[in-house]
Amino acid sequence: MRDFFKAAEGAEISRFRKCPICGALFYALRAARPERGADAGTKACSKRCANAFRVRKHREKQEKYELNRKFKRAGVRPEGE
Ligand SMILES: [Zn+2]
Repeated sequence: MRDFFKAAEGAEISRFRKCPICGALFYALRAARPERGADAGTKACSKRCANAFRVRKHREKQEKYELNRKFKRAGVRPEGE
């Protein structure tokens, strides 16, 4: 039993992640694959949470976009224009 914990403390422990949506600990089966996008199956505990996570990310991007638009309207222009 002690050996088990010793093993779990090693490289494997880094595979345990906290779900950004529901806070549950989960075990990431696959390493993140940058070529397939950082979200490739290891960001959340389940497909449902991964989906919610993606939506949240998308919304954050959208908010940043909206903010830039407001700046533009207020006369603050990004460089190069
Ligand atoms: Zn979750």
